[in-house]
Amino acid sequence: MTAAPPPPPSPRLVVGIDLGTTNSLAAVRAGKLPHVLRDRDGQPLVPSVVCYHPDGRVLVGREAKALRLELPDRTVFSVKRLVGRSAREVEAEATRLPYRVVAGERGLPRIAIGDARHSPEAVSARILQRVKAIAEEALAQPVQAAVITVPAWFDDAQRQATKDAAALAGIDCLRILNEPTAAALAYGIDGKKDGTVLVYDLGGGTFDVSILRIEDGVFRVLATAGDTHLGGDDFDQLLADRILAALPGAVPATRQSDPFVLQAVRAAAEGLKIRLSSANEAELALDLGPRGTARLTVTRAEFEAAIAPLVQRTLDCVQRAVKDAGLRLPAIDDVVLVGGSTRVPLVRERLRNLVGKAPHTDVDPDLAVALGAAIQADVLAGNDRSLLLLDVIPLSLGIETLGGAVQKLILRNSTIPTSVTEEFSTGVDGQTSVDLSIHQGERELAADCRLLGRFQLRGIPPMPAGLPRIAVTFLVDADGVLRVTAREHRTGVEAGIQVVPTFGLSRDEVRRMMLDSIEHAQTDYVAREAIDLRNKAEAMVRGTRKALALAELPPDQTWAVHKAVKALEALLAGAADTAALKAGCDALTEVTATIADDVISSAVTKALREEERR
Ligand code: AMP
Repeated sequence: MTAAPPPPPSPRLVVGIDLGTTNSLAAVRAGKLPHVLRDRDGQPLVPSVVCYHPDGRVLVGREAKALRLELPDRTVFSVKRLVGRSAREVEAEATRLPYRVVAGERGLPRIAIGDARHSPEAVSARILQRVKAIAEEALAQPVQAAVITVPAWFDDAQRQATKDAAALAGIDCLRILNEPTAAALAYGIDGKKDGTVLVYDLGGGTFDVSILRIEDGVFRVLATAGDTHLGGDDFDQLLADRILAALPGAVPATRQSDPFVLQAVRAAAEGLKIRLSSANEAELALDLGPRGTARLTVTRAEFEAAIAPLVQRTLDCVQRAVKDAGLRLPAIDDVVLVGGSTRVPLVRERLRNLVGKAPHTDVDPDLAVALGAAIQADVLAGNDRSLLLLDVIPLSLGIETLGGAVQKLILRNSTIPTSVTEEFSTGVDGQTSVDLSIHQGERELAADCRLLGRFQLRGIPPMPAGLPRIAVTFLVDADGVLRVTAREHRTGVEAGIQVVPTFGLSRDEVRRMMLDSIEHAQTDYVAREAIDLRNKAEAMVRGTRKALALAELPPDQTWAVHKAVKALEALLAGAADTAALKAGCDALTEVTATIADDVISSAVTKALREEERR
């Protein structure tokens, strides 16, 4: 058997990309610290907005955002809310959006702009392309590979759709990384120490809280909670209402439906809010020309009183997440802040009071996710060889071999991505297909491990047992997806299967399977030994019979060998115990070894060697 080492790490430049609902950005780590990549104006954030202009241009980022009011039905924002979901799933979401979302082929949502139909992935690809272009300009070199972040609660379809968007944008997505994990990394929580982290992410329009458990360098999301429609925009709206009310004259309803007044008022409200993060009082004089001037002063205390119920809603989510994780608040070791709205002092204060711990504040909360993605990207690029074990295989992976034993190809705690190839063969003469069963677990017998999948390799030309050379490759990619392929050397026939090994396994189950393997180590060893011995005995019987047919032995010797073979066969048929089988094997070895002409013993040795290679 041969085991190939994992492929060497790529020396390519890999960036981290935060593909956000509102803004996106890229970061890279060159040296120890990661840094964000800025455009020519020094801006790191690309608004996640794409405008399909009637003149045929496709504008992305700030230029597109500026057209939101002018071309509301052609300017796509918040597309992350649609990615990887069905048209039915996004129905309610779509009613909030000013552009049209229709059901396309296979029930997938399509964004209808005039006669054109765009998939959410294609829109995301436009954003990614812009981020990539900014990164390439900032780095003065091509960027082909990236780590892209997604919310921890994104399902497989949403993760796959994000990868598809990357591929459309010409980016090789090496890893989809959970946003809270990225944020924790950015704050220096790099897995070298075990602990529990609460990641509080309050952006412009969404709120997410995640509880991460770090154990042996592995980041695991224990629970998530949140509100997909709660964020800084809601704080702005409360202030916008006050500004509108402060406008002189009546008929506020007409003003509220005037998009330009609304835009100006919203922008002024956001400005007020931001000033109130560092001042106790902020003044505003908003001149709307013929529509009047709004003058008002807002104190921080007034603002805080207005937003307090919204902040409380986020805290309720925090408590729910902690409870869902099976924990209590004192178990939280670190609190990490993400999202621009965590700059609001009331948010920090209430969170600190609830958890009883000051949140980390030393990383810009708008940049944390991208910075963390850059750290992970650097590790995947092979540049960081420190102890950062972001993802490891929780349980060994292997295939079932003759007699129900498991041959492990990838051992537990191997870091991913990883790939191992071993060679196997057939057990019966003329065998033209091989069944492969993939198992996960630490136990010796397939029956005690978890069956992940089966497939068959067909089309093997009939050959004596042991002659076909079948290379079985286990490849676990950076996202934890296992691909198993089997290839027969001579003919090149190939078959394969793809599985997600960790699917459905909780930390507790992994632990239980581990403990089981320790508890049953002795009995497993005995059972494994019995299987190996049985395989050996069967191979001896087959090998000796073949050799007998070839060798021209004197009748008495032929008879002696026949007798020993028959005896061993009888033991095999009669469920003999290990000791009896061993004695049978020894007896057969003895008669073949005593034959002067060692035709038989060499044939047996050869047959055994082939058998061992299987
Ligand atoms: P994000 O979605 O993470 O980019 O967060 C954007 C939100 O953060 C917007 O609602 C901003 O108004 C808000 N934000 C940014 N800076 C501040 C600040 N200094 N104080 C309060 N909110 C802020």
